[in-house]
Amino acid sequence: MSIKPNLLEKAYQTNDLTREEITYLLENITPADREILYSLALKTKQAYYGDKVFLRGLIEFSNICRQDCLYCGIRASNAKVERYRLTPEEILACCDQGYKLGYRTFVLQSGEDLWYTEEILVELISAIRKSYPEAAITLSIGERSPETYQRLFAAGANRFLMRHETASAELYEKIHPTMHFEKRRACLNALKELGYQVGAGFMVGLPGQTPADLADDLRYLKEFHPDMIGIGPFIPHSETPLGAEKGGTLEDTLVMVALARLLIPDSLIPATTALGTLNPQGRELALKAGANVVMPIITPTSVRKQYELYENKICGDDHPEDCRYCIERRIQEAGFEADLGRGDSRQFISR
Ligand code: SAH
Repeated sequence: MSIKPNLLEKAYQTNDLTREEITYLLENITPADREILYSLALKTKQAYYGDKVFLRGLIEFSNICRQDCLYCGIRASNAKVERYRLTPEEILACCDQGYKLGYRTFVLQSGEDLWYTEEILVELISAIRKSYPEAAITLSIGERSPETYQRLFAAGANRFLMRHETASAELYEKIHPTMHFEKRRACLNALKELGYQVGAGFMVGLPGQTPADLADDLRYLKEFHPDMIGIGPFIPHSETPLGAEKGGTLEDTLVMVALARLLIPDSLIPATTALGTLNPQGRELALKAGANVVMPIITPTSVRKQYELYENKICGDDHPEDCRYCIERRIQEAGFEADLGRGDSRQFISR
């Protein structure tokens, strides 16, 4: 008899699987097993978070980047992407619009753009904090020094999203010619130490990534225990060195989302825009496989298409209010309930 049902049951009961067990599952999973896995992940999500799906307003404030990640459409070497940078005033206007649409979490994401010095960021974060005392401010701006992270935290930032991208040191170094595996992990540790709610995560379907690598991603997350876990398919971008590679699949990504929910049950897991790009129902399927966060874009429509990490990204022509209501409808149609509150992680609340 197959041991897979037992492994799935074990994951559900104990929230734990070894690297070998995860690898075995990934190598042998059938469509029927996947359905069982998704339903166990859904039950687990409901036990921890009910049917609520937290909304975050995402502001992509600059596509200028000093790094050169082989997969990313806004890498420094891509001369074809038209670059933009929102001013602090424009970012504040996005927050204002987002607040009026009901968002109480603002996610500020960008390439690694050092025009935003520590001083400029401190001033910006302080201004957002002053205008919206009850809102959560999430940063996703890449690598800075621990001292800078500390000052941004003191200025009022609460959360920080920084995917570990892959738990394979070898693969990490290959696809990040300007970055280092240990440095990324050191940043994540520093952020957690400083008191941020931290989001880690990885891409699925990177060239050369093995089932054992994906098992390591889950084992790393289980150990690091972040508040949030972002998992999305790798989607090739033609103006990058990985443009001709195959991307991650919907099924493989959903399996990783579901396993993350079982192994780290109290984490917040977004249904990512990349999944919505891969399949029109991708985000809804993720919500049914354990995800419980969606991050609608509130970037101004005039620059949205330029924040092109991968091609055919959804919502490029939409306005912030379109995304706000489209997402709410999708969440309801999938059988869940949109929640505009801060949506802190369970482990943060109990800290
Ligand atoms: N500079 C910030 C934000 C990076 S963009 C940082 O370093 O954290 C946010 C995420 O998009 C990345 O962490 C990466 O996992 C994802 N991403 C980038 N290019 C992608 C691609 N081609 N396909 C899928 N996801 C991609």
